[in-house]
Amino acid sequence: MIDLHIHSTASDGTFSAIEIVKMAFKLRLKAISITDHDTIDGATEAIQSGIPENLNFVPGIEISASPPEQFPCSGSFHILGYFIQLQNQSLNQTLKTLQEARKNRNPLIIQRLNDLGIDISINDIIVNASNGQIGRPHIAKALISKGVVRTINEAFDTYLGKGKPAYVDKFRFTSEQAIDMILKAGGIPVLAHPVLIKPTNNQPIEYLIEILKGMGLKGLEVYYSDHTELHVKQYSNIAKQFDLLETGGTDFHGNLKPDIMIGSGRGNMSIPDYLYQKLFFAAQLGHDPKV
Ligand code: AMP
Ligand code: ZN
Ligand code: FE
Ligand code: FE
Repeated sequence: MIDLHIHSTASDGTFSAIEIVKMAFKLRLKAISITDHDTIDGATEAIQSGIPENLNFVPGIEISASPPEQFPCSGSFHILGYFIQLQNQSLNQTLKTLQEARKNRNPLIIQRLNDLGIDISINDIIVNASNGQIGRPHIAKALISKGVVRTINEAFDTYLGKGKPAYVDKFRFTSEQAIDMILKAGGIPVLAHPVLIKPTNNQPIEYLIEILKGMGLKGLEVYYSDHTELHVKQYSNIAKQFDLLETGGTDFHGNLKPDIMIGSGRGNMSIPDYLYQKLFFAAQLGHDPKV
């Protein structure tokens, strides 16, 4: 089994990269990838701490992007990047822009919460973030600590989610820019959790994939915690149709998504090892998914 979608404390996961590597080793996972939002600090920490011999580690990232204009949609539009070169200068420069955008957003969200009569400050939020980048889940946690809401979902449904009173949009790259930055860093761009993408005009997901493939997309996240068996079959067929690599991961966030376990999602996921092998060979051989 493998798990190619994991968040560490470098973004909004609650386990450090070192703890994640230890957990994966104990579970005898064959391969993992740390795919933090807009940062490679977790992946770097994992590599620096040393990866056990029987575990394969894929340096990864998850980038929030805006969907192509021809395919209006809501939901989470994220591009995963696998086997990126962590030292790549242009990647590191670009990530700084995204991290800056996040930093600028937090005070705006706090201001909105304050305007709603909620007494909350950046210090209440930082304590949940272990020196990593701050995201809305950290703010949600602070709202729980303050007794404003009971659960993270409630925090998103009442305040932080899109269209809710404390929602502040953040700067995003276009799909093309996100794919491009991953390719330029020697990585493999993969569309994350297609099930979370909700087309506004009832356009088929195949149309989106066709557009993204034209931009250089190389893979589709076929296995995901929220995918049913039917979804897996459907997305696997789409990947084959468009000659894309298939990947899979749980989107483990530790206690911030307590119902998702590393390696097994809601308990029943089993992502086959050969997906990792194919990804590995594609990365080795000039990123050609046909191999
Ligand atoms: P941010 O990066 O600050 O935009 O926050 C994104 C994170 O918030 C992701 O990890 C999502 O899993 C989480 N998230 C987004 N919407 C919701 C929601 N409705 N309920 C719980 N978590 C959410
Ligand atoms: Zn997250
Ligand atoms: Fe995501
Ligand atoms: Fe994720």
